[in-house]
Amino acid sequence: MENQEKLVLSIQKEMIQFNLKRMRTVAWTMMYISAIITIIHYGEVFFSKTERAMVPAYIAIHTILFYLDLTVLLFVREKKMKVTSLNLRKYKSILLAYIYIILILITVITLMDVYFFKHAVLYEVLFLLICTVFSISFLETFPIMLITVLPILISAYLSVGISGESIKIFLPMSLIIPIGLIMQRHTYKVQRQITKQHILLQVEMTKAKNLSKLLTEKNNELSEQAFRDTLTNLPNRRAFNNKLTQIGQQLSKPTSLSVMIIDLDFFKKLNDYYGHLQGDEALIKVAALLDEIAEKYNAFAARWGGEEFVIVSQHAAKFSEHVCEEILEEVRHLNIRHKHSEVADIVTVSIGMCHAKISNSEQLKICCELADQALYTAKQNGRNNFYSKSGNFDEDVCFPLKCQ
Ligand code: GH3
Ligand code: MG
Ligand code: MG
Repeated sequence: MENQEKLVLSIQKEMIQFNLKRMRTVAWTMMYISAIITIIHYGEVFFSKTERAMVPAYIAIHTILFYLDLTVLLFVREKKMKVTSLNLRKYKSILLAYIYIILILITVITLMDVYFFKHAVLYEVLFLLICTVFSISFLETFPIMLITVLPILISAYLSVGISGESIKIFLPMSLIIPIGLIMQRHTYKVQRQITKQHILLQVEMTKAKNLSKLLTEKNNELSEQAFRDTLTNLPNRRAFNNKLTQIGQQLSKPTSLSVMIIDLDFFKKLNDYYGHLQGDEALIKVAALLDEIAEKYNAFAARWGGEEFVIVSQHAAKFSEHVCEEILEEVRHLNIRHKHSEVADIVTVSIGMCHAKISNSEQLKICCELADQALYTAKQNGRNNFYSKSGNFDEDVCFPLKCQ
C-alpha cells in the first residue's frame, strides 16, 4: 500500500515536471506570436486610414500575454525546478494558473473576433494546443473550458443568431471542443502510462544496482576470506605466497629482506594435555601478538601452517635479530601455561631466520627455505631461541641451499 502511494506520488511529480517543461515551450511560442501580432497591430494603427476601434484592446491583451510568457520563461527555469512532494501543489497551481490566464485572455480577444469578424479561430487553435501539449486531466480543465466556451457561444448567438454566418463559429466550435477533449484524454493517459513505466524501470534499475553492489561486496568479502586463516584471522599461506610474488615483482635492485619462521615448542604435547581447544586459544594469542609486532615494524605476518607462523620484513640483519628476541620475550610474557613443555612451564617459540639481499622472487623462496632450515637448527639448539642464516645471492654457489 505504502509502495503504491509512493508510486502515485512519483507519477504526479514527474507529470508536473513534464508539464512545466511544456509550459516553457508554449510560453516561448506564445511570446513570439504575441510580439508579432502586437507589431502588426501597431502597423495597422500607423498606416491604416480607417483605424478600428478594437485595435488598442488587441494590443493591450497581446502585450499582457507577452509579459506573462516572459515572466514564465524568467521564473520557471528548467534546471532550478525540482518538483518535490513539498512544492508539488505550488507548481501545479502555477501551471493551472498559466493555462487559465492565457485561455481567458484569448477568450477576450475571441469575443472581439466573434463580434467583428464572425470567427473564433484563435480560441480554437489555443484550445487544441493546450489539449495536445499539456498532460492534464479532464477535471482540471473542465471549469476553465466552461468559463471560456460558454461566453463565446453566447456572444456568437447574440451577434449572429442562427444564420448562415453563424456556421463559421458554431460548426468549428462544436467539432473542435470534443476533438480537443478526446486528444486531452489520450495525451493524459499515454503520458501517465509512459511516466509509470519510466518510474518502474528506474526502481528496477536501482534494485539491480544495489544488488550488484551487494554482490561485489560479498565477492570481495569471499576473496578476502579466501586469503585469511579462519582460526587466527592472519593472512594464510596463499596470501603469503601472493605477498612473496608481489615483493619479488617490486624488487628492482638487491634489497635487504628477512624471513622469520616462528614455531611453537612442544605444541603437540600442549594439545595432548590441555585439549585442542586450548591449543587453538594458544595459537590465536600468539598470532595476535605476531600481527601486532609485524605492524609495529611495518612487516608482513602470516600463518605458515599448523603451529608455524612467518614474518617478512625489510630490515637489516641486526634489526631483524632484535625483532626475533622481542618475539621470544613477548611470547613468554603471554604466560600461556604449558606444564608438559620440556623448555619451560609456559608456551615458548623457536625462530628460524634468514637474512639476505634479495633481487627476485626466486631468491625470496630460497630465503624461506633457509629460514626453515634455521628453524630446525634452533630446535636442535634447545628451542625457545632463534637461529639466523644469511643467504649470499651475489655468489652463484648459494643455491641449492648450501649457505650456512
Ligand atoms: P616442536 O617443538 O618440535 O615443534 O614440537 P611440536 O609438538 O610443536 O611439533 P609437531 O610438528 O610434532 O606438532 C605440531 C602439532 O600442532 C600437531 C598438530 O596437532 C598441532 N596443530 C596443527 N595445527 C593446529 C591447530 O590449528 N590447532 C591445534 N589445536 N593444533 C594444531
Ligand atoms: Mg611445526
Ligand atoms: Mg612445534
